[in-house]
Amino acid sequence: GCGICVKVCPFDAITIVNLASELATDKIHQYGDNSFRLFKLPTPKKGEVVGLLGRNGMGKSTVVNILSGNLKPNLGRYENPPEWNEILKHYSGTELKQHFEKIEQKQIRASIKPQQVHHIAQAFDGTGKELLDKYDERGVSRELIKELGLENSMEQSLKELSGGELQRIAVAAAASKDTEFYFFDEPSSYNDVFQRTGVARVIQNLAKIGKSVMVVEHDLTLLDFLSDYIEVLYGEPGAYGIVSTILSTKIGINVFLDGYLPNENVRFRDKKFSFDVSSSTTDIFEEGSTIVTYPKLEKKYSTFSVTIEAGQVRKGEVLGIMGANALGKTTMMKMIAGVENPDSGTVNKKIKIAYKPQYLQNDLDVEVISVLDKANGNPVEGSMEEEQILEPLKIKKLYNKSIKNLSGGELQKVAVASCLLQKVDLYALDEPSAFLDVEDRIAVAKFIQKFVRSFGKSAIIIDHDLQLMDLISDSIVIFEGESGVSGTATTPMRKAEAMNRFLKSLDMSFRRDERSLRPRVNKLESRLDKDQKSSGNFYYKH
Ligand code: ADP
Ligand code: ADP
Ligand code: MG
Ligand code: MG
Repeated sequence: GCGICVKVCPFDAITIVNLASELATDKIHQYGDNSFRLFKLPTPKKGEVVGLLGRNGMGKSTVVNILSGNLKPNLGRYENPPEWNEILKHYSGTELKQHFEKIEQKQIRASIKPQQVHHIAQAFDGTGKELLDKYDERGVSRELIKELGLENSMEQSLKELSGGELQRIAVAAAASKDTEFYFFDEPSSYNDVFQRTGVARVIQNLAKIGKSVMVVEHDLTLLDFLSDYIEVLYGEPGAYGIVSTILSTKIGINVFLDGYLPNENVRFRDKKFSFDVSSSTTDIFEEGSTIVTYPKLEKKYSTFSVTIEAGQVRKGEVLGIMGANALGKTTMMKMIAGVENPDSGTVNKKIKIAYKPQYLQNDLDVEVISVLDKANGNPVEGSMEEEQILEPLKIKKLYNKSIKNLSGGELQKVAVASCLLQKVDLYALDEPSAFLDVEDRIAVAKFIQKFVRSFGKSAIIIDHDLQLMDLISDSIVIFEGESGVSGTATTPMRKAEAMNRFLKSLDMSFRRDERSLRPRVNKLESRLDKDQKSSGNFYYKH
């Protein structure tokens, strides 16, 4: 091997030789013997948002910890770590030297929104208000609370808050400190699209007042919208990660989707992700036979009620469900799946449905393989289903792990696979992108779509990742209303019509990237943004 790769090497021979010799001096950190190694570092930029884009296990949080001064880089010498003077010498002549000098002299104060917001709730005994009061050095807590929709969440103890509320309070606390550098590690988790755009505005405002901001994010629409620059992290998850040269947002995301870095001449994925327009516009809306119909459905809980306009799902169709949190999306899916009974209206189905819930049970001490065998109804090892579902989703390597030891992303993929293994007509998946990294989101979306189409099945999918929903949906139901109070859902609409309505409510317009054909958010108030909005074309024209 080339000495870099631990397992199978994804690079071609010529590239390996270059990479190995080039990288020797670029090793930034190694955690221990045979542990993860990080090569190269991104450089923070004053007044700009730099986005870090890469799979889980590529070292993004490691980068954040090093640049914020929480982790002293050891240049790979984990047994005999170098002193600061040696580290500074190593970086002499680079932009990073100044940065590390400030860290050494404790002149840098960095503010971090950590990846795991639940750790904040465990460590801080108090309310959201008390947390913000403690950190608000810029005197901006009132504006942040408004921008992030936290007005009704500040008096509760952090331990009682939902994941989305905790996430936004953590973003507010990080943004309210007065420092030069800000790091946001996965700020979108648990939030709906409206809350994500609030988070985006808060982060962008920091750059506007001259701060250096870095963001790790797996929601490509959000990352695209937020970032002025992108640095791609590639390598072998868990084994080593390499930081690319700095790229424009557009090029950075396209390079990531291509799986090929032209500047470095490195191919890091053997296939490229495409966003073919024709593959996402089908005639199912007109031609598909209906497999489930539902009349107007109503459901009331003590303080919440939801009304859902009548609709249907067709064979071969993916029905997307979009809308803010706490409007009844999960309730609708449960009523169609037969897990919850409507107060009025009966779902007319003679079909079988498999349901992947939003919240997954992660404390089971059972092996993944036994969960999969049960879902499949037969042992999966050596089966056709293994080849059709588990291999493409790369789950085979998890067979003998216990459910309770899986990472969030691994658990999500096992849950999606367990759903798809069931021999049913309709697959109902509630927020399948949660905890998945950027690459798995696209891979899982593409897989579900292909699976549904090639086997004549159907799917209903709730998700907040706009890129994923645009890629996967044939038709879309939109939820509107007042979160936690009352919700209404439209009948299934054609994708273009639904996306147009949804983007309008977000005050956001899309264009297609001319080369990759992926959807991109127009910069607010840009000419394209204004033109499209004034002509009512929030979703791009075909
Ligand atoms: P990402 O944020 O891109 O998912 P991380 O920087 O969190 O990646 O982790 C990269 C790799 O380093 C992972 O394989 C992780 O298990 C490993 N790692 C992280 N922190 C430590 C540590 N303190 N000791 C040993 N290994 C670690
Ligand atoms: P969404 O999936 O759109 O976020 P849900 O369907 O999960 O929304 O919930 C909508 C509202 O109904 C929320 O305010 C939630 O707290 C409430 N709710 C959901 N299930 C129940 C229940 N079993 N009992 C009482 N209230 C519930
Ligand atoms: Mg991380
Ligand atoms: Mg839900």
